[in-house]
Formats: sequence, structure tokens, C-alpha cells
Amino acid sequence: MNEFNLIDKYFVGKQNQRKDVLLPIGDDCAVVKAPDNAAIAISTDTLVAGTHFLADADPALVAHKALASNLSDLAAMGATPAWVSLALTLPDVNPSWLDAFTESFYELADYFSVQLIGGDTTKGPLSMTLTVQGFVPEQQPLTRRGAKVGDWIYVTGCLGDSKAGLEVILDSSKRSKSCARELEKKHYLTMPRILVGQALLPIASSAVDISDGLIADLSHILKGSNVGAQLDVDLLPVSKELTSYLADSELAKQYALSSGEEYELCFTVSEEHRGSLESALAHCGTTFTCIGQIRAGDKLELHSQGKAIDWQLDGFDHFEDNTL
Ligand code: ADP
Ligand code: MG
Repeated sequence: MNEFNLIDKYFVGKQNQRKDVLLPIGDDCAVVKAPDNAAIAISTDTLVAGTHFLADADPALVAHKALASNLSDLAAMGATPAWVSLALTLPDVNPSWLDAFTESFYELADYFSVQLIGGDTTKGPLSMTLTVQGFVPEQQPLTRRGAKVGDWIYVTGCLGDSKAGLEVILDSSKRSKSCARELEKKHYLTMPRILVGQALLPIASSAVDISDGLIADLSHILKGSNVGAQLDVDLLPVSKELTSYLADSELAKQYALSSGEEYELCFTVSEEHRGSLESALAHCGTTFTCIGQIRAGDKLELHSQGKAIDWQLDGFDHFEDNTL
């Protein structure tokens, strides 16, 4: 199969055509049109085999993870996803891999009405680069820069599962541990919190998605907003699967603080807007938990039972150190 047959077979005409896509895959560029008064939020991420996923991982899970992690960046801005491009580098043409990859990719894309509008296909070590684009109100995207002293800090969902799932993926001897399979699945099958992000646009003062671990990502908000924070680790939401897998509730909290690739949202809300959160997020299908408060200064302090604690936590690593 040459490059053009491959593009026709796997990428052309696989989805419903959005009205704002004036020219889809097949020309030198795609041509799209944003709604009046909308700004466009754009984010790019690369996933490399051996760094972000194992080369022999289930292609359906890899496709989901690749698109979900990109869409999560749009969620963190409160954006409404619209278009995605996919640059795919493949070591060879493996039809069963491509079938499974593209089917899973379109399933998640269709769920959020995101259309694949272009990309590139090349030969080489397995990797993929996605660029997602979505709409945000011109004046009002959610950013990392708006947190104020006194704002409350929230997270969606449960934290820590992804780190445990990654351990199971990398060390098959851990498969026999309680809930190992569920956690492995959760590592791959996160759902970007698009609805939450949209609902937070008029309410939250800042937001970030948790890709590098709560501590690391909340620190981006603190730095961007010139503030500090106090977190109560006893409030951190952890799943019963994680608690069962680790059989140690303190360790579960530590996982919740450091686990990357969670793709939950961390956001801040002023006292004034706190009361409207419940109804604003009621239709979003996820829990949310207040875990602390923004403070003056620039420190991130951890507390438990009213006292400061000094946990030394590892940052988040991928399969191997991939920092440059
Ligand atoms: P060019 O050489 O002009 O860059 P290509 O031959 O690479 O064009 O691509 C032909 C068309 O197929 C373009 O519209 C491009 O966006 C699309 N395309 C190529 N690879 C992919 C892919 N992996 N996913 C989606 N669209 C793709
Ligand atoms: Mg090309």
C-alpha cells in the first residue's frame, strides 16, 4: 500500500462533515471557519512509542490516549473542540494496527464532534503528533493566571489511578495485585473533561489539566497567578480501586499528588462563585472535590489533620526520562 492508498483507506471520509470545515482532507491544506466572536484555542502534543506508550500496546488504547490527552488541554481552557490534525509516523503498514487505531480514534473524535481535517503520514519509529483546535469566547478563556488569594482549589474525579496503572503496564508481576486490571485500563481510557471546562468558563478563576501530577500542575497555576496554596491531603479524592491496590491510604494520597496523565482538571473558584458550582457541574457526569485554598506567597504547603506535613514526592516520569 502506498502513502496515498493508505490515506484514502484510513483517513478520508470516515466522519460526518462539520459545516465549518470548508475543505477537508485531500488538498494541500484544510480550510476551516471559526464562528463569529470566537477565538481559536490550539494545542499540540506528541506521543512517542517507548516514551509515552509501549510499542506493542493495544493500538485502540494508544489512539484513545493520544486524542484524549490532547483534548484535555482544550478542556483546561474551557474550549469547545472542533478540529484535529494527525501526523503519524509508522515503522511499517500494518492493516490490523491501523484498523484498530483509527476505529478507536474516530470513536472518541465523534463523541466530541471533532473532525480530523488533515495530517501527515511518514515512515519511521512509531510516533504521533496531534494538533487539536477548539473555540473559546474571545474575552474569557480559562487560563493558569487568574487565581486569587482566598480562592478555593478543586479537582475533578479521582487522582492517582494513572500512576498505579502505569506501574502495572510496566511490571507484569503487579498484575496479580488487587484491581490491577481496572487501573491499567484507567491509565489509557481517561475522558477529557470538556463539559466541565465549558461549564467553568464563567465561574472558575483559573484551570489546568493534570498531565504531570497535581503538585506540578497546580504549581503552574501558582506561578502564573503569583500566589501560594495550602492543600489538605486528607481531602484528596482517591478511588476504591487505588486504595485496594496499594492497601495503604497514605501512599494512595501520595499517588494522588504525583500521578501524571490523569487528565482531570484542577481549578480555582472564588468564595463568591462557590455556590454556583454544584448546579453548573451537575450535568457533567463527574465528581469534583475541594482540596484546599489559595494563599498569599509562593509556597505550596501540604496539610493533614491541621498540621503541615513534609512529604518528599517524586515528580512524574514517563516510561523513561524524556526530558531534553
Ligand atoms: P502534502 O504532501 O501536500 O503535504 P500529503 O500527501 O502529505 O500532502 O497528504 C495528502 C492529504 O492527506 C492532505 O490533505 C493531508 O492533510 C492528508 N493526510 C495525510 N496524512 C494524514 C493523516 N495521518 N491523517 C489525516 N490526514 C492526513
Ligand atoms: Mg505531507
